[in-house]
Amino acid sequence: MNTDFRIEVGFFRHPKTRRLIAALGLPAAWSLPQLWEFAAVNKPSGELSGMTHADIAAASWYDGDPEVFVAELLRLRWLDKSRRGLEIHDWAEHQPFVVDAPRRREQARRAAGAKWDSAADGAKKRHERLKEARSKGRHTDAEWGVLLAICGMKCLRCGVTNARLVKDHVQPIYQGGSDSIDNLQPLCASCNASKGPENKDLRPKGWAERLSLLMSAPAGVNASIQQAPTPTPAFQPSSLPERTPLPPVTPSDPPSLPSPLPSGGDQTRKEAGGWNRAGAYREPKGARPKLTPEQSARMEQYRTKRAELEQRIRAEHPEMGDGELLTLVTAELKRQGITA
Ligand SMILES: [Zn+2]
Repeated sequence: MNTDFRIEVGFFRHPKTRRLIAALGLPAAWSLPQLWEFAAVNKPSGELSGMTHADIAAASWYDGDPEVFVAELLRLRWLDKSRRGLEIHDWAEHQPFVVDAPRRREQARRAAGAKWDSAADGAKKRHERLKEARSKGRHTDAEWGVLLAICGMKCLRCGVTNARLVKDHVQPIYQGGSDSIDNLQPLCASCNASKGPENKDLRPKGWAERLSLLMSAPAGVNASIQQAPTPTPAFQPSSLPERTPLPPVTPSDPPSLPSPLPSGGDQTRKEAGGWNRAGAYREPKGARPKLTPEQSARMEQYRTKRAELEQRIRAEHPEMGDGELLTLVTAELKRQGITA
């Protein structure tokens, strides 16, 4: 149903309006908008087919003689004769919105139907799209973890570091993109949501080579990670490094900080080696060869860096398992050339 219709500027001063008032009095001019309102609701085409003159007068809230009223409207060309009866003069021209309403309603109904259908199909389509994307390529959690590290644990679009990072498909999967690591980059949820149709690869240069190296370097192998990168081989699940459990920390694998006991310390423990009250470890006498100052410094740097990395990755990825964490940390330390 139409909820409005137009009255043009100039209606009240129009010569036709003034002539109607002159002929039938002021109430007749008031009747015209009443007739238009009635038509907007009941006769949106403007054709008053099936209506007698009495009906038209009643619809217009005109109290006088219906015949006189209709005759005057025809004479002043407020009404026209049509093949099917009477119609409002130039209705379609003056009230295009009203005339067009049934078509617009039908259009809106169809659009609403389509929207409903697409909402119902949405979940199914998303599932199918992801399935299709995965058939073109898949990634592992470890690869994603390494990629995050390579990308600096930040959104590649806005640089935010303290937001949840999501897997953005460089080529969206609805455009046929795959779910392999080659097509993923970390974005914050907000950048991911506001990303346009542009398929911008924001990953740092050389990321693929670094990923390949990090993924293929098994923990504990002492090959230099800084040598010239080899061309990236296509990713094979079998090239994933084995998950390595964290080595147990035992007193025989102590930090090597020279920690002189405070004076008056326990002499027995001092001889046997062990942890003093301040939490520092004391080497048992003669248990280990003495480290050179350079070795000590290097060991200290290694431990500090390792602890930092572990802490950072742990904070960013509470879901990451110990083995995965160790692999990532070891590989990253190697990449930076830090060895024990
Ligand atoms: Zn962002």
